[in-house]
Order: sequence, then C-alpha cells, then structure tokens
Amino acid sequence: MARKFFVGGNWKCNGTTEEVKKIVTTLNEAEVPSEDVVEVVVSPPFVFLTLVKSLLRSDFHVAAQNCWVRKGGAFTGEVSAEMLVNLGIPWVIIGHSERRSLLSESNEFVGDKVAYALSQGLKVIACIGETLEQRESGSTMAVVAAQTKAIADKVTNWSNVVLAYEPVWAIGTGKVATPAQAQEVHCELRKWLHDNVSAEVAASTRIIYGGSVNGGNCKELAAQADVDGFLVGGASLKPEFIDIIKAAT
Ligand code: PGA
Repeated sequence: MARKFFVGGNWKCNGTTEEVKKIVTTLNEAEVPSEDVVEVVVSPPFVFLTLVKSLLRSDFHVAAQNCWVRKGGAFTGEVSAEMLVNLGIPWVIIGHSERRSLLSESNEFVGDKVAYALSQGLKVIACIGETLEQRESGSTMAVVAAQTKAIADKVTNWSNVVLAYEPVWAIGTGKVATPAQAQEVHCELRKWLHDNVSAEVAASTRIIYGGSVNGGNCKELAAQADVDGFLVGGASLKPEFIDIIKAAT
C-alpha cells in the first residue's frame, strides 16, 4: 500500500509576527512536489495559528503543537481540540518528547489526548521515542512499543494518525539517527502495529522520523523503506525545509 510522504515542520516556541510572516513567504514561493506526492504540515505556536493559516498556500496545512485531553472548560491556559476544529486547524502534534519530559505527560495521558483529538475530527501526529539512557541499556523497542500501546489502547481508527519516531537523544542535538538506526526502529514499529493492531494499519500508517533532520541528511533517511517522512524542528524555520520537503523525490 502506497503511503504518501509526510513532512511536518515543528516551529516549537519560536517566532515573532515578522519572523513567522517571513517563513510563510519562503514556503509560499517554493517550488515543491504536488500535494498528491508530499503532504506538508507546519506547526506554529498557538498564537500564530490563525495568521499562518490565513497567509499559507492552500496545498500546505497547519498543525497545533498540543491540545487539551478532553472537552474544554475550566482548564486555565489550555487550548481544546474543539477550538482548533472551530478555527479550521486540521492537525495537532501530541506527545512531543519536550512535553513528555518537561511537562510530565505520561504514556496514558498522551493516549487519551490522541483519542480525544481524533474524536473531535483532528488528524494527529503522535510522537514517541527513547532517551539515550534507554537506547544504551537496550530498551529502545520496549519503550517505543509501550508508548505506541498506550495510543493503540485508546484508538480504534488509525486513518488520521501519523506516528512520529523521534529519539530524544537526536532532538535538537545535531546527532541524527543513522538511516540504518531509523529504519530498524520504523520496521519494528510497523511489525508491532501488524501484530497488535492489524496488517492493514501496519501497511497504511505513516511512520515518520524526527531528530536533527536537515537538508543534508534527509535524502538518505527518506530512502529507507519504512521512513515515510519527517517531523522537523530547527531546520523547519530555515529555507532548507524546502529541501526536506523534496527529500523523497
Ligand atoms: P529537531 O527537532 O529537528 O530540531 O531535532 C525535531 C522535533 O522536536 O520535532
């Protein structure tokens, strides 16, 4: 089953109005493969979502970086899935490692959030990944399987889920996983989905890689059989994001 290549840009907590407008102009002027070949989604901070959505070319889409775990209400500082839907934001990133580590989001909490966002009609980029300590102790697969299981326990329809494998040791460090390291985990994850969800979900779910992806290393990573795209942090704020969008073509 063909899986459309997916490139997400996670802008994290960066940008001013002027900087955001500049990035959007660069994206709008870029010559990239059509939407039928590569799906492009950029994720600005909440406060810039509407601005970016209004200025961005129509073949690129917008994602929030988080949303609340259930229906909105008395949750000061949170943004609900319903609000994102109301604004016409189609995607949300859930379970990024920075939120898991800095804000103590557990596997179960992430699973609940993914399920709730999907139930409201959002598409979800669900993030998983091991720390350096976990990799060095040989527990990479156990860690990512447990993170994926917590999502699979709550999700019945995977058609709107993209799974982002982002080893924590590779995020923002410049230490990208080798193509072989990425392929090994992606292949194991697909096998896990096959054995624990279904053959259909395993074949159709995009598993994307994140962690120090840049214009120089993206092509070799994209050539791996089970790497279906990227979630890009630092490089998504720079013109080289265009090269990453073109990595599979
Ligand atoms: P990075 O971040 O590309 O800057 O390593 C990736 C991410 O956190 O999604």
